[in-house]
Amino acid sequence: VEGVPSMSVLNRNELYTRIVNAIQASNWQVLWPSSMAVVPLDLRVFHKDASVTLRIYIRNLTHGGKTRNKNEYRIQRQGDRFQIEKNFQTLVLGWWDDAGVFAGFDVRKHAGTPGNPSSIQVKKSTLRKAAQVGMAAHEKGNEEIAIAFRPELFMEYVNNLESLHDFGESIIDLRAFKDLLDDATKHDFVLKDDDLSRFSHQRRQTVVTIIRKIRESTFTKRVLSAYGHQCSFCPVQLDLVEGAHILPVAYDDSTDQTSNGIALCSLHHRAYDLGLITMDETYETMINEKRIQQLQKARRDGGVEFFRKSLRRHIRLPKAPNHRPLKAFIRKANELRGWSLH
Ligand SMILES: [Zn+2]
Repeated sequence: VEGVPSMSVLNRNELYTRIVNAIQASNWQVLWPSSMAVVPLDLRVFHKDASVTLRIYIRNLTHGGKTRNKNEYRIQRQGDRFQIEKNFQTLVLGWWDDAGVFAGFDVRKHAGTPGNPSSIQVKKSTLRKAAQVGMAAHEKGNEEIAIAFRPELFMEYVNNLESLHDFGESIIDLRAFKDLLDDATKHDFVLKDDDLSRFSHQRRQTVVTIIRKIRESTFTKRVLSAYGHQCSFCPVQLDLVEGAHILPVAYDDSTDQTSNGIALCSLHHRAYDLGLITMDETYETMINEKRIQQLQKARRDGGVEFFRKSLRRHIRLPKAPNHRPLKAFIRKANELRGWSLH
């Protein structure tokens, strides 16, 4: 019914699980807490050499009720005294389950006194925008902005926390950033030096990082959905499937079109990048026999029969013809990965 907002409300355990899933979706790892019955949630997260400890306050985002503006969503503080701890990144988050997005609020503006104000708002249109393009910002006045974002941008939000909320200090920079966020998901979008020169050095770094991540996750989403989240070399789904570029990103003519992508499980992604497997222009799969022989000599060919059997004869293709790998991309990519020399 028009005007009655839908409101899925999750319990604390479910909210915490959404956070862990989001951290993993942003390619970071997490040490699970010993208890999920605590407020706030302290979490150690890491990626390669980097690690951060998060202190997280999270509530459901809900509509304020009949008397409030339809566009206004909020978290209730319920007496939370957001405490900023040294050596922690303190996050104040809302989660809207219906759209699958977080809203991040500036803890520096709300630390200390509990219940003042008793709720913190964000616009529904900002949440919707984030669901659509990855990240969106809402100017709340008083130099405060709320940032809404999709789960796979969780760690980009964390790693650029203050810099993102500091966009509240410059409406001009904020609007320029919003324009870029609106455009970044378009497949022919290119981030130009001109777009960046208007930002200060610190903001420029944040803009580049966020836009790059949005580009990457948009590509991955498109490719995975074209291939039904299944590896094109084997039957595996299991959320072990990644979107790989056929023409490597480092190659100047590489693009983010779906036809330059292929869905690969982690094993076959690695094997493809190392030139151990590929497909030819008829989509037939190939194994690098020369490499297998080298491995046999070095006695490191264990599992090769299992590996051979795991491969389809032809790669599995997307239903839509325009999503299938372009033959010109396959030809060039095989050359760049050394296949013409094998
Ligand atoms: Zn596979």
